[in-house]
Amino acid sequence: MVAKPEAKIYGNYIGGDWVETSGGWVEGRDPATGELVSRTAKSTTEDVGHAIEAARSAFDSGAWSSTRPSDRARVLREITGRLREETESLSVLLTLETGKPLADSRGELLNAANVLEYYSSAARHIVGKVPRYSGTDISLVVHEPVGVCGLIVPWNSPISLLSWKLGPALAAGCTVVIKPAVYTSGITMEFVKLIGAVEGIPAGVINAVAGSGESAGSELVRSPKVDKVSFTGSTETGRKIMEMAASNLKKVNLECGGKSADIVFDDANIQAALPSAVWSIFRSAGQSCNAGSRLLVQDTIYDSFMNSFKSAASAIRIGNGLNPETEMGPVVSEAQLNRVMGYIQAGQEDGARLTLGGKRLVDGDFAKGFFVQPTVFEGVERDMRIFQEEIFGPVLCALPFTDEEDAIRIANDTRFGLAGDVWARGLTRIMKVSQGVRTGTLWVNRHLNPGPEVPFGGYKQSGVGRETGIEGLMEFLQTKHISLGLTDSFERVRR
Ligand code: NAD
Repeated sequence: MVAKPEAKIYGNYIGGDWVETSGGWVEGRDPATGELVSRTAKSTTEDVGHAIEAARSAFDSGAWSSTRPSDRARVLREITGRLREETESLSVLLTLETGKPLADSRGELLNAANVLEYYSSAARHIVGKVPRYSGTDISLVVHEPVGVCGLIVPWNSPISLLSWKLGPALAAGCTVVIKPAVYTSGITMEFVKLIGAVEGIPAGVINAVAGSGESAGSELVRSPKVDKVSFTGSTETGRKIMEMAASNLKKVNLECGGKSADIVFDDANIQAALPSAVWSIFRSAGQSCNAGSRLLVQDTIYDSFMNSFKSAASAIRIGNGLNPETEMGPVVSEAQLNRVMGYIQAGQEDGARLTLGGKRLVDGDFAKGFFVQPTVFEGVERDMRIFQEEIFGPVLCALPFTDEEDAIRIANDTRFGLAGDVWARGLTRIMKVSQGVRTGTLWVNRHLNPGPEVPFGGYKQSGVGRETGIEGLMEFLQTKHISLGLTDSFERVRR
């Protein structure tokens, strides 16, 4: 087992300084053992106000937005380098706060570094256009930073999801106030410390305040001094944020929940489709927005595929994420445990067949943690809660389907539209399903995005806007048209 660091106390990072809060502290605890990991600020609305002021004056001074793109690119490159250098030590803290296996934590941090590196290049490719040029006038279309941005992040992949926001925000020339989730405030502040040591970032460009969503988070969304909120979290919170942001017509980006379908046809490469289906749901103990939580298998192979699936799932090594042997850790908190166990009970009450797992692990080393067995429900009806709602835990609903139309119908029978997988060989079949499934991303014969160059985001109630890719950068820019007259003359009527 990898050694644990001492629990640390983290203040808020405001205007280039670490400051204490008057609101008290929140204890971060290891979901595998219950041991103390960190203490972070329970920020008051006043603390958040100070952070917003710092970001506002840094933006209004032009100290960051008017730097050369090459300077912003260098800063992002340096953050990337430091993150790569510190991956080992940061991954331990990430595992201690989230419970995820160490290898997954390393992967997340390297993924974040890759995203920041991508946006360091993108900072130098913000290009406008000249859509009109005549003897009398010329039109310039330029992109300017949106302004002060609130970055609100969940706990499941706190650093990689932060990089999706911070990378494009800094590349665009915005200033930010980061609000991490309560459970992952320690790792976020440790990352901010690393960023704070990079030269060339004016004070107030990056600020971070810990605290609850209801208090610290909503202050950020309500403040008229914040121009944009980029939020990742549940659809329910996303809806509240949209309402609150209406006060000053703040721009909002919402990356919300999902209930993705993993569709396996009988002509698929089963050797690849099977492990992908298993890890699509059980990676991070099911706490991934893009988890393939609904497994649709063609009826001709359903029984054999599900037998193999359940035998692979029951072989998953569950344990403390710091143990290198562990493949699946605990869920993040007692509240999350209760939520997941509540859905397992609801599935049984609604009449689905529990065919694997379904229990909390309580013996021996598991006693102090929030460990749930990989769980499979079959005989699921489409109106059941476990089919319709995002559980965000290691719980799968499996259903058979007959043909392409049936698969599309079942996959689309949800208010979510984040992502999905199709495993098949026939091109016509692949295209029919890819076009028919209403999601922002569809992976065909592979799982997860290949890199930060491509956009990610939701259809339907899975979100508004896109992150990553150039689309993710454009969300932090606004478009201005500058029309220049070339004749020094005034025309009263437009012709
Ligand atoms: P959550 O909505 O409870 O919280 C997310 C963040 O919002 C946290 O920082 C929280 O403190 C803050 N928050 C909560 N209430 C707020 C309020 N009233 N005003 C302002 N901020 C508030 O979500 P969670 O439990 O932390 O994360 C899990 C959810 O995130 C799942 O639904 C998952 O699907 C979603 N998610 C989506 C993506 C994506 O890219 N679409 C990625 C990861 C997670």
